[in-house]
Amino acid sequence: MTGATGSPSEGSAPFVHPEPARALYVHVPFCRARCAFCDFPVVSGRTEHLHGPYVDALLQELELLFSLFPPDPSRPLRTLYVGGGTPSFLARAEWERLAEGLERVAPGGLASFEEWTVELNPEDAEADLLRMLRSFGVTRVSIGVQSFDDALLAALGRVHDAARAVHAVELAAGLGFPHISLDLMYGLPSQTISAWLRDVERALDLPVDHISAYALGVEPGTRFFGELRRGRIALPEDDVVAEMYERFAERAQARGFRRYEVSNFARPGGESRHNLAYWRYEPYYAAGLGAHGFLRGIRTANSRHLHTYLRRLAPDSGPDLPWVEVRSISRAEAMGEFAFLGLRLAEGVDFERFRRLFGVPFSDVFAPTLARLTEAGVLSVRDGRAYVEERWVYVQNTFLSDFLLA
Ligand code: SF4
Repeated sequence: MTGATGSPSEGSAPFVHPEPARALYVHVPFCRARCAFCDFPVVSGRTEHLHGPYVDALLQELELLFSLFPPDPSRPLRTLYVGGGTPSFLARAEWERLAEGLERVAPGGLASFEEWTVELNPEDAEADLLRMLRSFGVTRVSIGVQSFDDALLAALGRVHDAARAVHAVELAAGLGFPHISLDLMYGLPSQTISAWLRDVERALDLPVDHISAYALGVEPGTRFFGELRRGRIALPEDDVVAEMYERFAERAQARGFRRYEVSNFARPGGESRHNLAYWRYEPYYAAGLGAHGFLRGIRTANSRHLHTYLRRLAPDSGPDLPWVEVRSISRAEAMGEFAFLGLRLAEGVDFERFRRLFGVPFSDVFAPTLARLTEAGVLSVRDGRAYVEERWVYVQNTFLSDFLLA
């Protein structure tokens, strides 16, 4: 690192994020079955008896979190994202208790959330559930479609089929959710480019204003990991996967979607404000099994073990936050993360915001990396921002990790 933060002591000093957190993530870990590719903190199978104790623990955690890190009353919470797991699998009565509890413990109540997203799996799309969510003030549903190919859905271990996914989107649209997102996956076992493009066209024909498209990653511990090692599944080659991404991006953009983040495409106004907070390096609260938070420059990680999580938050155990990791990050790390995350966005990194957060110019801190990547045509700098050039977006991690090493 060169320039104004050149001294090692300055770079290693802890970063204290000066902004208040205005985003809240709540994790609901229950799923009917574990998908073949999933390594999230999930509890699968018959878990209904655990939903009540889990909601109690979540609300207890939020109370502790807000008393330790009180939100700024002049800049209240504004986005809530309930993800999983499968939040839509939560029993109706527990959903009611969760919404009532959030109204009570979240400073400003539910009315303060300008955007409230709930992840929904197609098999749970029932009118009564969606009406209830809408009545709570949910503004956005994110539907885990993944594919419209029934054979691929079965291979992924999904419990819904394509018809059910279409029904879920149409039901949500009919019930007036202002924003509907769907998730798709590509680079799936034996998937061809033409099969992928059929999925893309079906998604683009639906009344959604946001699509997230993720390439399959095969992580250790997942069913696919074992099957891949034993040669039971075959994945498309890397260049085929890259072409899938490029062809998807072209078609989505031709149909009025804009790539606002590497894997996320939205019609104007359909961007996820909550997820933008992560990429813009804003702080956020997080609660629930395995959830990761970022407050005042401290990164926290909750226990991924349900029984530990519940025990730590039980009223008779002198409840305590279920953190298993609390790490204060250094200024050097924070500056690198700011660049790495911000460059995922089409809006790029904002030099003025960097200076406000860190007190030094971006161009001084990253002078050699910026010069090298600009000269190579990967980055461009204009209007006080740095951007990744369109043709490098898909492979940008290869280059941008240089910022993390700076
Ligand atoms: S539904 Fe989602 S969270 Fe649950 S196992 Fe499947 S991919 Fe993982």
